[in-house]
Amino acid sequence: QSSPKPPPSPSPLRNSKFFQSNMRILISGGAGFIGSHLVDKLMENEKNEVVVADNYFTGSKDNLKKWIGHPRFELIRHDVTEPLLIEVDQIYHLACPASPIFYKYNPVKTIKTNVIGTLNMLGLAKRVGARILLTSTSEVYGDPLIHPQPESYWGNVNPIGVRSCYDEGKRVAETLMFDYHRQHGIEIRIARIFNTYGPRMNIDDGRVVSNFIAQALRGEALTVQKPGTQTRSFCYVSDMVDGLMRLMEGDDTGPINIGNPGEFTMVELAETVKELINPSIEIKMVENTPDDPRQRKPDITKAKEVLGWEPKVKLREGLPLMEEDFRQRLGVPKNK
Ligand code: NAD
Ligand code: UDP
Ligand code: UDP
Repeated sequence: QSSPKPPPSPSPLRNSKFFQSNMRILISGGAGFIGSHLVDKLMENEKNEVVVADNYFTGSKDNLKKWIGHPRFELIRHDVTEPLLIEVDQIYHLACPASPIFYKYNPVKTIKTNVIGTLNMLGLAKRVGARILLTSTSEVYGDPLIHPQPESYWGNVNPIGVRSCYDEGKRVAETLMFDYHRQHGIEIRIARIFNTYGPRMNIDDGRVVSNFIAQALRGEALTVQKPGTQTRSFCYVSDMVDGLMRLMEGDDTGPINIGNPGEFTMVELAETVKELINPSIEIKMVENTPDDPRQRKPDITKAKEVLGWEPKVKLREGLPLMEEDFRQRLGVPKNK
């Protein structure tokens, strides 16, 4: 049994004095919701060059419009299921549809994105000696039998269900990350992201917070899927980006849960949106989809200890920030 090979150092040119303090960072899926907020934050540091690779399946150039043409920014139309040959120092690997309606739309493509896409990003990391961070998901815990979920929990996942392309896909992606780490000495970081919300979410992507806000602004009934007692814990996107960057810069491989432990039933969420945005709308119960997890809440002890991170924005503070963005995009002014 041979011991892990040390990763190659980045190319000699990138080790030269000229580049020393600069960092070239690839964000796969950087045109999406979380990715574009991460781009904004990384671009604030003048030492960073940011490269986004995205196939625009669920993301859009619009999310990055303020950076297009910037000398430290580059946008590549690229599908991560194909090899990518570029020179970078760090990789944030986000590319993957995150909303159930999009990841179920073409499940075979979703699992290819998770498996082949992650393999390609790891091959790239290996060739250039880059550190790579995977955005995994709380869905790796499936319909959890332990509550809240610590990282040590192995999960309760249906391998043949309609969500499996996503949750089993991410589980394989995590396995690939650890195998490249153990076998090739690649520096890896794994974040297990819990439900995240904020400006730039796709308006009609079917996720619960974006659905409820869009419905409230359009004056439509809020659709709570049965039974309505199922819970989720919602993290505002600026907290998420802060957690991901701390994980990338820190020494721990993870997996580390990043999410907000504030837990709400879907009925409570609907009532909060109604109260904050449009008290005159109805809340109606509708049919649910298969394999919907009944409860979900991160145990963030490890993130606190290892990253010194915890979320700052409460749901009641974050929802109005998202409302602003949705009003602009839907063209619904405040006092219509
Ligand atoms: P998103 O759908 O807004 O962004 C995903 C981006 O990846 C999009 O820009 C999309 O076009 C791109 N993409 C998809 N398939 C691709 C492919 N084959 N090649 C290149 N690009 C591709 O989703 P998001 O909410 O920003 O999620 C980002 C990451 O975080 C995903 O990996 C997701 O699994 C993970 N995550 C998100 C949440 C959440 O609540 N938002 C929760 C858990 C995990
Ligand atoms: N790969 C890539 N960019 C690179 C290097 C590799 O996209 O800069 C892809 C490569 O095409 C392969 C995958 O990453 O499909 C895994 O690469 P690795 O070198 O680990 O395995 P191998 O090519 O030996 O199968
Ligand atoms: N949900 C809901 N109404 C909607 C959309 C979703 O009640 O219009 C529920 C859904 O049944 C699930 C929760 O909200 O229990 C979160 O769903 P989402 O698709 O946002 O994320 P995920 O299931 O991936 O956590």
